[in-house]
Amino acid sequence: MLNVPLWKQIQRNNFTDWKKLFSFLDFGIDKTERVLPHSQFPLNLPKRLAEKIEKGNWNDPILRQFLPTVEELEPSPLFVLDPIDDHAFRQKPKLLYKYHGRALLTCTSACAMHCRYCFRQHFDYETKDKLFIEELVVIASEPSISEVILSGGDPLSLNDAHVQYLLNELDKIPHLNRIRFHTRFPMGIPERIDDSFIRLLSSCKKQVIFIIHCNHPQEFDEEIFQCLKRIQLLGIPILSQSVLLRGVNDDVQTLKNLFELLIDNGIMPYYLHQLDRVQGAAHFEVSEEEGRSLMNQLNALLPGYAIPKYVREIPHQPSKSLI
Ligand code: SF4
Repeated sequence: MLNVPLWKQIQRNNFTDWKKLFSFLDFGIDKTERVLPHSQFPLNLPKRLAEKIEKGNWNDPILRQFLPTVEELEPSPLFVLDPIDDHAFRQKPKLLYKYHGRALLTCTSACAMHCRYCFRQHFDYETKDKLFIEELVVIASEPSISEVILSGGDPLSLNDAHVQYLLNELDKIPHLNRIRFHTRFPMGIPERIDDSFIRLLSSCKKQVIFIIHCNHPQEFDEEIFQCLKRIQLLGIPILSQSVLLRGVNDDVQTLKNLFELLIDNGIMPYYLHQLDRVQGAAHFEVSEEEGRSLMNQLNALLPGYAIPKYVREIPHQPSKSLI
Protein backbone atom coordinates (compact mmCIF):
# COMPACT_ATOMS: atom_id res chain seq x y z
CA MET A 1 0.00 0.00 0.00
CA LEU A 2 1.60 3.18 -1.26
CA ASN A 3 2.36 5.94 1.29
CA VAL A 4 0.60 4.20 4.15
CA PRO A 5 3.16 3.65 6.93
CA LEU A 6 3.66 0.06 8.01
CA TRP A 7 2.33 0.78 11.51
CA LYS A 8 -0.98 1.99 10.09
CA GLN A 9 -1.29 -1.10 7.94
CA ILE A 10 -0.64 -3.23 11.04
CA GLN A 11 -3.21 -1.26 13.01
CA ARG A 12 -5.88 -2.27 10.50
CA ASN A 13 -5.42 -5.86 11.71
CA ASN A 14 -6.53 -4.98 15.26
CA PHE A 15 -9.28 -7.17 16.61
CA THR A 16 -12.46 -5.11 16.81
CA ASP A 17 -14.93 -7.99 16.50
CA TRP A 18 -15.15 -10.19 19.59
CA LYS A 19 -16.34 -13.17 17.54
CA LYS A 20 -13.14 -13.12 15.50
CA LEU A 21 -11.11 -12.78 18.70
CA PHE A 22 -13.01 -15.71 20.22
CA SER A 23 -12.30 -17.87 17.23
CA PHE A 24 -8.62 -16.83 17.27
CA LEU A 25 -8.37 -17.76 20.96
CA ASP A 26 -10.32 -21.04 20.68
CA PHE A 27 -13.11 -19.97 23.06
CA GLY A 28 -16.32 -22.00 22.99
CA ILE A 29 -19.89 -20.72 23.08
CA ASP A 30 -20.00 -21.28 26.84
CA LYS A 31 -18.18 -17.95 27.23
CA THR A 32 -20.27 -15.84 24.84
CA GLU A 33 -22.81 -14.74 27.44
CA ARG A 34 -19.99 -13.12 29.43
CA VAL A 35 -19.07 -10.80 26.57
CA LEU A 36 -20.47 -7.29 26.25
CA PRO A 37 -21.08 -7.17 22.49
CA HIS A 38 -22.14 -3.54 21.99
CA SER A 39 -19.97 -1.65 24.41
CA GLN A 40 -19.88 2.14 24.00
CA PHE A 41 -16.08 1.80 24.31
CA PRO A 42 -15.54 -0.92 21.72
CA LEU A 43 -13.07 -3.77 21.58
CA ASN A 44 -9.79 -2.67 20.03
CA LEU A 45 -6.86 -5.04 20.45
CA PRO A 46 -3.67 -5.20 18.38
CA LYS A 47 -2.85 -8.59 16.90
CA ARG A 48 0.57 -8.59 18.58
CA LEU A 49 -1.05 -8.46 22.03
CA ALA A 50 -3.73 -10.99 21.05
CA GLU A 51 -0.99 -13.41 20.07
CA LYS A 52 0.35 -13.24 23.62
CA ILE A 53 -2.96 -14.38 25.14
CA GLU A 54 -2.98 -18.01 26.19
CA LYS A 55 -5.54 -19.81 24.01
CA GLY A 56 -8.66 -20.81 25.87
CA ASN A 57 -7.61 -19.02 29.08
CA TRP A 58 -10.45 -16.73 30.13
CA ASN A 59 -8.32 -15.39 33.00
CA ASP A 60 -5.38 -14.41 30.84
CA PRO A 61 -4.01 -11.06 32.13
CA ILE A 62 -3.90 -9.51 28.67
CA LEU A 63 -7.36 -10.68 27.65
CA ARG A 64 -8.80 -9.31 30.89
CA GLN A 65 -7.50 -5.81 30.10
CA PHE A 66 -9.10 -5.59 26.67
CA LEU A 67 -12.20 -7.76 26.29
CA PRO A 68 -15.51 -5.97 27.09
CA THR A 69 -17.42 -8.20 29.52
CA VAL A 70 -20.75 -8.03 31.33
CA GLU A 71 -18.86 -7.22 34.54
CA GLU A 72 -18.76 -3.66 33.20
CA LEU A 73 -22.52 -3.41 33.73
CA GLU A 74 -22.41 -4.19 37.46
CA PRO A 75 -23.85 -1.18 39.34
CA SER A 76 -21.14 0.63 41.32
CA PRO A 77 -22.23 4.10 42.44
CA LEU A 78 -18.70 5.21 43.34
CA PHE A 79 -17.54 4.61 39.76
CA VAL A 80 -18.34 7.63 37.61
CA LEU A 81 -17.85 9.04 34.11
CA ASP A 82 -15.05 11.49 35.00
CA PRO A 83 -13.36 10.10 38.12
CA ILE A 84 -10.48 12.57 38.22
CA ASP A 85 -12.60 15.59 37.31
CA ASP A 86 -10.71 16.26 34.07
CA HIS A 87 -13.41 18.69 32.98
CA ALA A 88 -12.72 21.05 35.87
CA PHE A 89 -9.18 21.53 34.58
CA ARG A 90 -10.07 21.93 30.91
CA GLN A 91 -8.89 25.41 30.00
CA LYS A 92 -9.29 24.88 26.26
CA PRO A 93 -10.89 22.01 24.33
CA LYS A 94 -7.61 20.07 24.22
CA LEU A 95 -5.74 21.57 27.15
CA LEU A 96 -5.84 20.39 30.76
CA TYR A 97 -3.95 22.52 33.25
CA LYS A 98 -3.91 20.65 36.52
CA TYR A 99 -0.47 20.70 38.14
CA HIS A 100 1.92 23.60 38.57
CA GLY A 101 4.27 24.02 35.62
CA ARG A 102 2.75 21.25 33.53
CA ALA A 103 0.08 21.47 30.86
CA LEU A 104 -1.47 18.40 29.26
CA LEU A 105 -2.67 18.23 25.66
CA THR A 106 -5.35 15.65 24.91
CA CYS A 107 -3.87 15.31 21.42
CA THR A 108 -6.32 12.77 20.05
CA SER A 109 -9.05 10.39 21.14
CA ALA A 110 -7.44 7.52 19.23
CA CYS A 111 -5.38 4.74 20.81
CA ALA A 112 -3.59 1.65 19.60
CA MET A 113 -5.81 -0.33 21.96
CA HIS A 114 -8.79 0.17 24.26
CA CYS A 115 -8.06 -0.61 27.90
CA ARG A 116 -11.24 -1.46 29.77
CA TYR A 117 -10.19 0.50 32.88
CA CYS A 118 -9.26 3.71 30.99
CA PHE A 119 -10.28 6.76 33.02
CA ARG A 120 -10.82 8.76 29.81
CA GLN A 121 -13.05 6.22 28.09
CA HIS A 122 -16.04 8.58 28.50
CA PHE A 123 -14.13 11.80 27.76
CA ASP A 124 -15.68 14.01 25.09
CA TYR A 125 -12.62 14.66 22.97
CA GLU A 126 -12.60 17.71 20.72
CA THR A 127 -11.70 16.57 17.21
CA LYS A 128 -12.41 19.57 14.95
CA ASP A 129 -9.27 21.65 15.42
CA LYS A 130 -6.17 19.68 14.51
CA LEU A 131 -3.79 22.62 14.95
CA PHE A 132 -4.15 23.20 18.70
CA ILE A 133 -4.30 26.96 18.04
CA GLU A 134 -6.05 28.02 21.27
CA GLU A 135 -4.06 25.57 23.35
CA LEU A 136 -0.70 26.76 22.02
CA VAL A 137 -1.67 30.38 22.74
CA VAL A 138 -2.33 29.52 26.40
CA ILE A 139 0.95 27.61 26.76
CA ALA A 140 2.93 30.41 25.09
CA SER A 141 1.34 33.06 27.30
CA GLU A 142 1.93 31.30 30.62
CA PRO A 143 5.64 31.49 31.57
CA SER A 144 5.21 29.14 34.54
CA ILE A 145 4.54 26.23 32.18
CA SER A 146 7.87 24.47 31.73
CA GLU A 147 6.57 21.10 30.54
CA VAL A 148 3.91 19.93 28.11
CA ILE A 149 2.52 16.42 28.34
CA LEU A 150 1.30 14.92 25.09
CA SER A 151 -1.48 12.57 26.09
CA GLY A 152 -4.83 11.54 24.73
CA GLY A 153 -5.89 8.99 23.81
CA ASP A 154 -2.40 8.18 22.66
CA PRO A 155 -0.22 10.86 21.04
CA LEU A 156 1.47 8.21 18.91
CA SER A 157 -1.88 7.76 17.14
CA LEU A 158 -1.20 11.08 15.42
CA ASN A 159 0.55 10.77 12.12
CA ASP A 160 4.13 12.00 11.83
CA ALA A 161 3.16 15.27 10.16
CA HIS A 162 0.97 16.14 13.13
CA VAL A 163 3.58 15.17 15.70
CA GLN A 164 6.20 17.17 13.80
CA TYR A 165 3.89 20.18 13.67
CA LEU A 166 3.28 20.02 17.42
CA LEU A 167 6.97 19.60 18.27
CA ASN A 168 7.89 22.51 15.98
CA GLU A 169 5.30 24.77 17.59
CA LEU A 170 6.34 23.76 21.12
CA ASP A 171 10.02 24.25 20.20
CA LYS A 172 9.24 27.91 19.51
CA ILE A 173 8.08 28.59 23.09
CA PRO A 174 11.14 29.78 25.02
CA HIS A 175 9.94 29.05 28.57
CA LEU A 176 9.15 25.45 27.73
CA ASN A 177 11.91 23.01 28.69
CA ARG A 178 10.41 19.55 28.41
CA ILE A 179 7.97 17.63 26.25
CA ARG A 180 6.60 14.42 27.68
CA PHE A 181 4.90 11.64 25.71
CA HIS A 182 2.44 9.40 27.53
CA THR A 183 1.93 6.33 25.39
CA ARG A 184 0.80 2.72 25.39
CA PHE A 185 1.29 2.39 21.63
CA PRO A 186 4.62 0.49 21.70
CA MET A 187 3.06 -2.35 23.70
CA GLY A 188 0.74 -3.16 20.81
CA ILE A 189 2.34 -1.69 17.71
CA PRO A 190 6.05 -1.03 18.29
CA GLU A 191 6.39 -0.58 14.52
CA ARG A 192 5.12 2.96 15.23
CA ILE A 193 8.68 3.77 16.29
CA ASP A 194 9.99 3.75 12.74
CA ASP A 195 12.81 5.70 11.03
CA SER A 196 10.56 8.63 10.34
CA PHE A 197 9.39 8.91 13.95
CA ILE A 198 12.94 8.62 15.24
CA ARG A 199 13.99 11.42 12.86
CA LEU A 200 11.32 13.75 14.11
CA LEU A 201 12.12 13.02 17.75
CA SER A 202 15.80 13.69 17.12
CA SER A 203 14.98 17.07 15.57
CA CYS A 204 13.22 18.29 18.74
CA LYS A 205 15.21 20.93 20.60
CA LYS A 206 13.51 20.46 23.97
CA GLN A 207 14.25 17.60 26.35
CA VAL A 208 11.85 14.80 25.48
CA ILE A 209 10.72 12.22 28.05
CA PHE A 210 8.71 9.07 27.34
CA ILE A 211 6.34 7.42 29.81
CA ILE A 212 5.13 4.04 28.61
CA HIS A 213 2.02 2.43 30.07
CA CYS A 214 2.44 -1.29 30.75
CA ASN A 215 0.80 -3.56 33.29
CA HIS A 216 2.12 -7.08 32.89
CA PRO A 217 5.44 -8.62 31.78
CA GLN A 218 3.57 -10.77 29.25
CA GLU A 219 2.87 -7.60 27.22
CA PHE A 220 6.55 -7.29 26.26
CA ASP A 221 8.76 -8.97 23.69
CA GLU A 222 12.26 -8.38 22.42
CA GLU A 223 11.15 -6.37 19.42
CA ILE A 224 9.36 -3.88 21.68
CA PHE A 225 12.52 -3.34 23.71
CA GLN A 226 14.56 -2.91 20.53
CA CYS A 227 12.19 -0.19 19.34
CA LEU A 228 12.28 1.53 22.72
CA LYS A 229 16.07 1.32 22.67
CA ARG A 230 16.07 3.48 19.55
CA ILE A 231 14.37 6.21 21.59
CA GLN A 232 16.73 5.74 24.51
CA LEU A 233 19.74 6.08 22.20
CA LEU A 234 18.56 9.63 21.43
CA GLY A 235 19.14 10.53 25.10
CA ILE A 236 15.43 10.37 25.84
CA PRO A 237 14.67 8.79 29.23
CA ILE A 238 11.88 6.21 29.30
CA LEU A 239 9.87 5.66 32.46
CA SER A 240 6.88 3.43 33.06
CA GLN A 241 3.48 3.74 34.61
CA SER A 242 1.19 0.87 35.47
CA VAL A 243 -2.25 0.50 36.98
CA LEU A 244 -2.82 -1.99 39.79
CA LEU A 245 -5.54 -4.22 38.37
CA ARG A 246 -7.49 -7.10 39.91
CA GLY A 247 -6.79 -10.33 38.04
CA VAL A 248 -4.00 -8.76 35.99
CA ASN A 249 -1.08 -7.75 38.20
CA ASP A 250 -2.37 -7.92 41.79
CA ASP A 251 0.29 -10.36 42.97
CA VAL A 252 3.82 -9.72 44.10
CA GLN A 253 5.51 -12.07 41.65
CA THR A 254 3.91 -10.43 38.60
CA LEU A 255 4.82 -6.94 39.80
CA LYS A 256 8.37 -8.02 40.67
CA ASN A 257 8.80 -9.58 37.24
CA LEU A 258 7.40 -6.48 35.53
CA PHE A 259 9.61 -3.98 37.35
CA GLU A 260 12.74 -6.13 36.96
CA LEU A 261 12.06 -6.54 33.26
CA LEU A 262 11.74 -2.78 32.91
CA ILE A 263 14.93 -2.05 34.86
CA ASP A 264 16.85 -4.68 32.91
CA ASN A 265 15.95 -2.76 29.78
CA GLY A 266 16.85 0.67 31.12
CA ILE A 267 13.25 1.76 31.80
CA MET A 268 12.62 3.31 35.22
CA PRO A 269 9.41 2.27 37.01
CA TYR A 270 7.73 5.57 37.79
CA TYR A 271 4.17 5.14 39.00
CA LEU A 272 1.95 2.28 40.10
CA HIS A 273 -1.51 3.85 40.00
CA GLN A 274 -4.43 2.96 42.17
CA LEU A 275 -7.33 2.46 39.77
CA ASP A 276 -9.28 5.61 38.97
CA ARG A 277 -12.93 4.86 39.69
CA VAL A 278 -14.31 5.12 36.20
CA GLN A 279 -17.75 3.75 35.40
CA GLY A 280 -17.55 0.15 34.19
CA ALA A 281 -14.21 -0.71 35.81
CA ALA A 282 -15.19 -1.64 39.38
CA HIS A 283 -14.23 -5.29 38.85
CA PHE A 284 -10.60 -4.19 38.39
CA GLU A 285 -10.27 -2.50 41.75
CA VAL A 286 -7.69 -3.69 44.28
CA SER A 287 -8.01 -2.17 47.78
CA GLU A 288 -5.37 0.28 48.94
CA GLU A 289 -4.68 -2.04 51.86
CA GLU A 290 -3.81 -4.85 49.44
CA GLY A 291 -1.78 -2.45 47.32
CA ARG A 292 0.24 -1.31 50.35
CA SER A 293 0.89 -4.91 51.32
CA LEU A 294 2.15 -5.65 47.79
CA MET A 295 4.45 -2.62 47.95
CA ASN A 296 5.84 -3.74 51.31
CA GLN A 297 6.62 -7.15 49.85
CA LEU A 298 8.28 -5.57 46.81
CA ASN A 299 10.43 -3.40 49.08
CA ALA A 300 11.93 -6.55 50.51
CA LEU A 301 12.65 -8.03 47.08
CA LEU A 302 13.84 -5.24 44.79
CA PRO A 303 16.34 -2.40 44.96
CA GLY A 304 14.72 0.95 45.71
CA TYR A 305 15.23 2.30 42.20
CA ALA A 306 13.19 -0.57 40.75
CA ILE A 307 10.09 0.27 42.78
CA PRO A 308 7.62 2.83 41.45
CA LYS A 309 5.67 5.24 43.62
CA TYR A 310 2.28 3.82 44.54
CA VAL A 311 -0.11 6.72 44.03
CA ARG A 312 -3.69 7.70 43.52
CA GLU A 313 -5.11 10.76 41.91
CA ILE A 314 -7.33 12.81 44.18
CA PRO A 315 -8.91 15.62 42.15
CA HIS A 316 -7.84 19.14 43.12
CA GLN A 317 -4.75 18.03 45.05
CA PRO A 318 -1.53 19.75 43.90
CA SER A 319 0.09 16.43 42.95
CA LYS A 320 -0.57 12.72 42.84
CA SER A 321 -1.01 11.40 46.40
CA LEU A 322 1.31 8.73 47.76
CA ILE A 323 -0.50 5.73 49.22
S1 SF4 B 1 -4.04 3.44 25.73
FE1 SF4 B 1 -4.24 4.88 27.45
S2 SF4 B 1 -5.71 6.42 26.75
FE2 SF4 B 1 -5.89 4.64 25.38
S3 SF4 B 1 -7.51 3.37 26.22
FE3 SF4 B 1 -5.59 2.63 27.10
S4 SF4 B 1 -5.36 3.74 29.01
FE4 SF4 B 1 -6.87 4.85 27.80
